[in-house]
Amino acid sequence: MIVATRFGAKERDGMPDEVGDDKNLGGSGLQVIEDITCPVCGCLCDDLRVTLQGQQLQAIEGACSLAKPWYEAVCRASATTHEVTGIPASLDEAVGKAIALLRKSRAPLIYGLSRSSTDGQRKAIELAEMLGATIDTTASVCHGPSIMAIQQVGESTSSLGEVRQRSDLVVYWGCDPVRSHPRHLERYSAEPLSEFLPGGRADRTIVVIDTQETETSQLADVFLRVSPDRDYELICEVRSLLLSFRLGDGPHPMPVSPEAERLFQLLSTCRYGAVFFGLGIAQGRLGHQTVAVLLRLVAEMNAITRMIARRMRIPGDVAGADSVLCWQTGFPFAVNLGRGYPRYNPGEFSANELLERGEVDCCLFVGSESISEFSTAARAAICHLPVVTLESAHVLPEVRPDVLFRTAVYGVHCRGTGYRMDEIPISMRPFLPGNLPTDAVVIEKLAERLRDS
Ligand code: SF4
Repeated sequence: MIVATRFGAKERDGMPDEVGDDKNLGGSGLQVIEDITCPVCGCLCDDLRVTLQGQQLQAIEGACSLAKPWYEAVCRASATTHEVTGIPASLDEAVGKAIALLRKSRAPLIYGLSRSSTDGQRKAIELAEMLGATIDTTASVCHGPSIMAIQQVGESTSSLGEVRQRSDLVVYWGCDPVRSHPRHLERYSAEPLSEFLPGGRADRTIVVIDTQETETSQLADVFLRVSPDRDYELICEVRSLLLSFRLGDGPHPMPVSPEAERLFQLLSTCRYGAVFFGLGIAQGRLGHQTVAVLLRLVAEMNAITRMIARRMRIPGDVAGADSVLCWQTGFPFAVNLGRGYPRYNPGEFSANELLERGEVDCCLFVGSESISEFSTAARAAICHLPVVTLESAHVLPEVRPDVLFRTAVYGVHCRGTGYRMDEIPISMRPFLPGNLPTDAVVIEKLAERLRDS
């Protein structure tokens, strides 16, 4: 007998949970929870199916090769106590010590936020405002150059749902989604059948542009190899072919590479093109200039067909961190609130550079995993600073903190909202009850204590 339950569906703000496909498999003791959202990468797949026996994870269907070990680690994790200088402490003791460190600080840095959720991100910004801190997200070591390019030239975008329905040409440029976003092709770009593409994969052309063969290029219809840091020239050549085509000038007057000719032929003959680009171009030598020229090309292609560009965002809610920071301050990352109003300047207020220059005297990390991307000098600087870290139980902090808060994982232990890589907010609901506070609760406690002092 199957009995519908509302497991994990605590009321929030007086509103009942609207998702209700959970099932108890009568007699077996197994509980099946459907439509779980995976927060591991920017795809935020929301169709996972979890089977629990009591508090034990029995199976997780729909989880890819990245998600499965992550869920197993989260569900196995046993570290549940907060720590002060490595010694177990109560939440109140940890808050007291963290406040003592933050109060003494004249140039605090709040960094991370991409493993958080809208509530945690809002609270972190509120705290940064109270402290007059600099607040930065993991975008500054990831797609920061792309954000700057978007600010310069704008972007032609769509939701992943539109790509799924309409895109007969998909270009992956400088990224390898089979490894970094394993279900991207299956859910959005290559395999879905739709009204406009009833043949699914057979109706779509997949192109990979990269400096070397990748797992994605092996599945692609066309692989175009570019020399390292030659993406900029390739894009300029294609723009010049497009201009010539639009002017109807006949043969292009300048010689261009065969790769540019092939790419222009593909782009100009599709009905709906989607260009997904990754750190391969955003973190290249010309960084934001290359992304800017790519965004211009995609916008210009709309004169002859429909085309969009999207970033391949990596951590689960990095898009949310940028979005929430934008609502609250007007800027997406590297924001300083030291003067009582937001100032934005990547490089000047980016976490890595601030640390390198010794302009931080206390760090609060809301998730510390991307600290591994910092320079050696920035990492060395952290070792000499007071550090407060909020981390979920399955993660070993990247640096030894003075105060460590263990927090619940959104989408596993608690409810939250994450932003998919196309900036669509997706609800994440819990399936495993836990005793740990969310990062939003911890940060609110810090803020309350500061307010009261
Ligand atoms: S593709 Fe990303 S969001 Fe989807 S299951 Fe895998 S890790 Fe999770």
